[in-house]
Amino acid sequence: MSDRGRRSAGRGGAGRAAAARPFQYRGRELCCDGASLEALAEQHGTPLYVYSAEQVRYRFGLFQRAFAGRAHTVCYAVKANSSLAILRMLAELGAGFDIVSGGELERVRRASKRALGRVVFSGVGKQAWEIDAALKAGILLFNVESEAELGLLAARAEVLGARARFALRVNPDVFAETHPYISTGLREHKFGVEIGLARAIYRRAARSRWLDAAGVSVHIGSQIRAVGPFAAALERVAGLVGELREDGHRIRYVDAGGGLGIDYNDPPAKPAFDAARTVAEYAAALGEAAAGLGAVHLLVEPGRFIVAQAGGLLTRVLAVKKNGTKTFAIADAAMNDLIRPALYQAHHEILPVKQGRGASVPVDVVGPVCESGDFFARDRRMPRLKAGELVLVLDAGAYGMSQASNYNTRARAAEVLVDGVETRLIRRRETLKELLAAEIL
Ligand SMILES: *Cc1c(COP(=O)(O)O)cnc(C)c1O
Repeated sequence: MSDRGRRSAGRGGAGRAAAARPFQYRGRELCCDGASLEALAEQHGTPLYVYSAEQVRYRFGLFQRAFAGRAHTVCYAVKANSSLAILRMLAELGAGFDIVSGGELERVRRASKRALGRVVFSGVGKQAWEIDAALKAGILLFNVESEAELGLLAARAEVLGARARFALRVNPDVFAETHPYISTGLREHKFGVEIGLARAIYRRAARSRWLDAAGVSVHIGSQIRAVGPFAAALERVAGLVGELREDGHRIRYVDAGGGLGIDYNDPPAKPAFDAARTVAEYAAALGEAAAGLGAVHLLVEPGRFIVAQAGGLLTRVLAVKKNGTKTFAIADAAMNDLIRPALYQAHHEILPVKQGRGASVPVDVVGPVCESGDFFARDRRMPRLKAGELVLVLDAGAYGMSQASNYNTRARAAEVLVDGVETRLIRRRETLKELLAAEIL
């Protein structure tokens, strides 16, 4: 049967299919929403990022539905996966965007000009050119991270004759259990301003007619699995909003940030995620914390939760070798393609594309880069891997390609988007020529 025929034949209702895992075995062959990964590897080569459009839409929809009862905008965090095709898809669903650079602003512009008015600009080190570009684009809100930045924003707004809507990103001093590199909400972190100092900063900002104190924002970190810390942070923000209104500021926006985590250890054999329940609990916790806020437009900035489980990194085993008692499967993907295991000691499930038979044996799945930190899994029990076979690194849709580099002068991977019965190349494999093009000899 043709690929197309097999896929449409096997599909359930759109809702049911979307709620399930995008990567599942059909027979003994791993597929993405019914598309053969083997065929995709043949067509586009490896390493290859494969994304499920349906899963991205489904997950964005969970946030839209969970917050439907209140004025809100879901501002997808571009840095999680900044592919233009994915940004456009989300823009068409009404997403706003959380950006952290002028480069990401340009991405949103190319994906959807109409979405520029739904952009919030976060980040601790905004430069004048980035602020100018965002002011000209007419973004929704600047999330300002210091009083110095507020001064710069006022100066640029005056030069351009545009009033800048801002929210001060406050640091609520809330502890969120996550990896130290992606925890941001403690006083000792570089992000935001101490919440106790915020009121005075807003008071001083009110003297500038180029600044519009439109909101308050907070973001406590990433890969946070419990909803308690989000609620605790938002409660502190709500208290501040009350004080600011007493002081006469017209606070209309509250930005609760992103950071909702996923279960990277979820056993791949389980047919469905409990994504819907997680988002519902998150929305309920935020709703409770925001109850006393009155009329306010709530912004949330999920990144990882929308795209992580929608994507996998497809890679071919180049060789299998034994060093002492250890077995290494050397893949053609490496830490330059997916740095999460090396950077955050992150766990990623790995599945063979041809479902394995026989006993599981411990194996290190590693890349070819010259670093001992270049691994995807250590002492992982998997069916015995063979040279030439394909494996999929799961949950690689967030902070995968967006953190990819050219380390070891490796060209970056290609990306494909599986959208129902269509499969589309959304980024072709980088060539060595492109990789070297900017260098001057
Ligand atoms: C990174 C980031 C996000 C998104 O975090 P996720 O963990 O991917 O949801 C949202 N807001 C800000 C300010 C960020 O820096």
